[in-house]
Amino acid sequence: MFKKIFGKLSKDIGIDLGTATTLVYVKGRGIVINEPSVVAINQKTGQILSIGDEAKKMVGRTPAHISATRPLVDGVISDFEITEQMLRYFISKVHKESFNILPRPRIVIGIPSGITEVEKKAVQDAALNAGAREVYLVEEAMAAAIGARLPVQEAIGNMIVDIGGGTSDIAVISLGGIVSSKTLRIAGDKLNKDIINFAQDEFKLVLGEKTAEDIKIAVGSAYELEDSLETSMRGRDLVTGLPKEIIVEDNQIRKALSGSVKMIVNAVKETIENTPPELVADIMSRGIIMVGGGSLLRGFDKLLKEETKIPIKIEEDPLTAVVRGAGIILEDIKKLREVLVPLDYGEVPK
Ligand code: ADP
Ligand code: MG
Repeated sequence: MFKKIFGKLSKDIGIDLGTATTLVYVKGRGIVINEPSVVAINQKTGQILSIGDEAKKMVGRTPAHISATRPLVDGVISDFEITEQMLRYFISKVHKESFNILPRPRIVIGIPSGITEVEKKAVQDAALNAGAREVYLVEEAMAAAIGARLPVQEAIGNMIVDIGGGTSDIAVISLGGIVSSKTLRIAGDKLNKDIINFAQDEFKLVLGEKTAEDIKIAVGSAYELEDSLETSMRGRDLVTGLPKEIIVEDNQIRKALSGSVKMIVNAVKETIENTPPELVADIMSRGIIMVGGGSLLRGFDKLLKEETKIPIKIEEDPLTAVVRGAGIILEDIKKLREVLVPLDYGEVPK
């Protein structure tokens, strides 16, 4: 009885703990936080200076003793303590606004696939410490599929390709579970690195990460474009140490990205090869759904279609699919219980 009233009153939340971006969804309100997964730390004192938007502004612009780090970079939780602090910060940010007089929330968190039991437990503990009443974990590919409104609980093959910052996650889902999947640490960040390497090798030009990302978004592509694009690359000349600007065209950047793009395409093909034929037949007729920021690289869908012979659909608003999926799970945890990550430790939330 009490529980029922609690459930009605508390503002449950869904979180996409992404390598590049963290999003928070509040039941009844929608997405309330959309900030970079970045933490700025004073290395001398170990003190956290800022998190999210504030911290991102510091990337590449900090004095030597301040580092702006991405604790989830490469999809693995490379610095757990900082991840916990970040999670706590985002939860308390929402909490302060709306939970102070309300009961503690239930939280659904999308976690990168392939994280260890210890890390899962740490995510759960962090959320409990930050004020959660109950914590449920869901694999990001599953959350993305639910966010894309795919029939994940039916006996139908659904294929999701999520190209994020640190990782690309490919998964085939049927009957509430992941049937085959692949995670590779080649995604948006690697494409930025490819551009940095290209500028250095071709023009002895040193670019910053942020600049490389801007170039990727401005002219990057995976498939030949109908109209060519160009942009300027601004950085430091490796030889003279002075500022230098070079104009590049889309075909040069496409070539720089092609190796990484090909590895993602190959991983999609391998995942299809490891999928039972009945499900492949479903995927052929229903198409592959692309989500994540990397799916916005020009022509990625076209290339993937050409290489797999399967229709491709980029999910509408691909950057928010995971958190929207977490939100849908919150609406009906009972019905979607089977899609959650079973917790091998401690008390399983009811
Ligand atoms: P994560 O889930 O790992 O936090 P996201 O799904 O938020 O990652 O995607 C972030 C990545 O998407 C970044 O590498 C970013 O550069 C890339 N990205 C965002 N918009 C575009 C775009 N229009 N074209 C190419 N890449 C993009
Ligand atoms: Mg993601």
